[in-house]
Amino acid sequence: MVTLIQPVRGMNDILPDDERLWETVEAAAADLFRRYGYRRIRIPVLEKTDLFRRSIGEMTDIVEKEMYTFEDRNGDSLTLRPEATASVVRACLSHGLLHNRQQKLWCSGPMFRHEKPQKGRHRQFHQINIEALGHAEPEVDAELIVMSARLWDALGVHATLEINSLGTPASRTGYKQALVDHFDRRRGDLDADSSRRLQRNPLRILDSKNPAMQELIAGAPVLEDYLDPESRDHFERVRTLLTDVGVEFTVNPRLVRGLDYYTRTVFEWVTDRLGAQSAVCSGGRYDGLVSQIGGRETPGVGWALGVERVVELMRDEGFDDTGPEPDVYVVGVGDRAQRECFSTAERLRDAVPAVRLVMGPPGGFRAQLRKADRSGARYALIVGDDELAAGKFSVKPLREDRAQELVPRDELAGWFERELGRKQ
Ligand code: ATP
Ligand code: MG
Repeated sequence: MVTLIQPVRGMNDILPDDERLWETVEAAAADLFRRYGYRRIRIPVLEKTDLFRRSIGEMTDIVEKEMYTFEDRNGDSLTLRPEATASVVRACLSHGLLHNRQQKLWCSGPMFRHEKPQKGRHRQFHQINIEALGHAEPEVDAELIVMSARLWDALGVHATLEINSLGTPASRTGYKQALVDHFDRRRGDLDADSSRRLQRNPLRILDSKNPAMQELIAGAPVLEDYLDPESRDHFERVRTLLTDVGVEFTVNPRLVRGLDYYTRTVFEWVTDRLGAQSAVCSGGRYDGLVSQIGGRETPGVGWALGVERVVELMRDEGFDDTGPEPDVYVVGVGDRAQRECFSTAERLRDAVPAVRLVMGPPGGFRAQLRKADRSGARYALIVGDDELAAGKFSVKPLREDRAQELVPRDELAGWFERELGRKQ
């Protein structure tokens, strides 16, 4: 026998049993975005490697160790997208969508990061992303955060919101020096990643997940003391707006996020329900990104949510994920009846578009009826020699204590329409 080909580690199949959860998340998000006037954009999964190097930052975990980068047949270095923001900005610039215009956009799809696979952490995972470009005002930061809060309400999941302000690159310079001084004094306690980042990107040290580093990080100076007045006002306004509409949050002065492009507002929805993984949705403002990618100076703000983690939370909340069951299961006994069933099924699908009607494989009456029952269908539509002769089909309610009925062939559509409209 030939050996079975295994799936690629960390790349998951999402099976039909989970589809209802996925569909619910996707539909709720699409509905929310429509209500707030965000339009969908679809971007490729592959980009030039430089796009991510330039935007995400050389000293970040993503660029240093997580990207799927390869040379294509032309010798170009390409990367499977590890996140969407850089690609959305690139797409806007490629098509001139930011010429004297603002954009409120969303997208969704798979992202790729070569991480250690575990619960809630995969190498191909899915995000839903939202990006507002050309909006500098704190109202848009708040709008985006409120939208994510609404999404949790719609999906019945619980998470807590942490926010912080990173200020502007200029205000961060003083802070970076203070960080370098702090960590330099305890140089011997830094892990390898952190010592490497100390000079070039000390902020990244705050994002370290290494438990051994946490005490050192807790004692570090806080960015808030270095914020410029405009960033301070901006941050205060965001907090006021959130409070006005009843969105609760805590300020986490250590929140810096894993990508370099953030400015001012950053936030993360966290939970303790996902084992070692805590972030469900994260984002922030990235006023420097568009010019970094080669466009004109344009403010931006956005977030990304991890669909797998949200689905896991919904499951944890007891979301009922049994898929929609069929309404009608067709049982045809014998070759002639089977043929009749085929065309009857098609006529019913035309006449009653809402009906979920399935045909099982041929077989004996009892075996087919057992399958009809197991399918969860409300009715079995039964056709045998007697029915063919009489021109009337048997309909057997499977979930109610009710007698089987004989329905004339021509009246079947009307019968099912009435029955399906009736509450079970
Ligand atoms: P983490 O701290 O868990 O590594 P991150 O800061 O790298 O997350 P972002 O780059 O902000 O994550 O991505 C946004 C969201 O995408 C995260 O909040 C999370 O829900 C999800 N996500 C990130 N990486 C993965 C992954 N490897 N597998 C599944 N979901 C992920
Ligand atoms: Mg990460």
